[in-house]
Amino acid sequence: MKIGVVGAAGRMGRALVRAVDEEARTTLAAAVERPGSPDVGADAGSLAGLPACGITVGDDVAAFADCDAVLDFTTPATSTALAARLSVMGVAHIIGTTGCGPEDDAAIAQSAANIVIVKSGNMSLGVNLLAALVRRAARALPEADLEVLEMHHRRKVDAPSGTALLLGEAAAEGRGINLGDHAVYTREGHTGPREAGTIGFATLRGGTVIGEHQVILALNSERVTLGHIAEDRSVFANGAVAAALWTKDRPAGLYGMDDVLGLTAE
Ligand code: NAD
Repeated sequence: MKIGVVGAAGRMGRALVRAVDEEARTTLAAAVERPGSPDVGADAGSLAGLPACGITVGDDVAAFADCDAVLDFTTPATSTALAARLSVMGVAHIIGTTGCGPEDDAAIAQSAANIVIVKSGNMSLGVNLLAALVRRAARALPEADLEVLEMHHRRKVDAPSGTALLLGEAAAEGRGINLGDHAVYTREGHTGPREAGTIGFATLRGGTVIGEHQVILALNSERVTLGHIAEDRSVFANGAVAAALWTKDRPAGLYGMDDVLGLTAE
């Protein structure tokens, strides 16, 4: 399968190039960075710490025309615009970018009318399994106060993390409620007591933490804590490559990692 990587010089971009190289069924066919990036013109393999692979990082997404799928961990604006371009090219799109707003998501869903798009705030097997467990625990303990805690490296630009939101969505699904109507994303000052039925978020930033998440279900005198620690970006990159392989011969539409991993909602 011929794979393109956008944002190829980014932290995830480099991990994606390594994951494509490691998977026998995939070949890197194109690599693109933002126009003006100092890494345009570099060899994508060398950037990723591998031997030179002969694929030069370009700055035009037209390079993806011959690809079967493009892996995209960039910015919401980049992913939204690229989905529209790939829908015309007929190329599958794997989106790991987080921080997309409702308008970005609506535009991406529109592009998915013509191509296969897999979008997930977390591409790891472990987190998607965790989401399934959270859905179940939230349903089994309807009285529990739900809190989602996350920590990421100091350079992360969006909060709460896409994964924290994914876990919040799973908890809300388990309760049969809408996350947007029940989420408390920040607390400061005289907040008053905790409102029953809300789902709280707490965000920590610092150092080089790749991604840590905990979902706490707090009852009177006892707590259940479910969690996940990502030790290396390869867990997300390998998931993205697995998603790309999964798109082959799939009908157009917008899918999540639970579809790819066969973790259907229980
Ligand atoms: P990063 O800043 O290191 O990399 C982003 C790259 O995208 C940069 O190299 C940047 O130059 C490039 N880029 C920006 N605009 C572009 C454009 N228009 N065209 C081409 N390239 C462009 O960030 P990162 O740590 O690699 O994270 C990227 C995204 O992936 C974030 O949204 C992050 O939250 C998300 N992420 C998702 C998962 C997941 O499993 N879904 C895991 C880790 C990170």
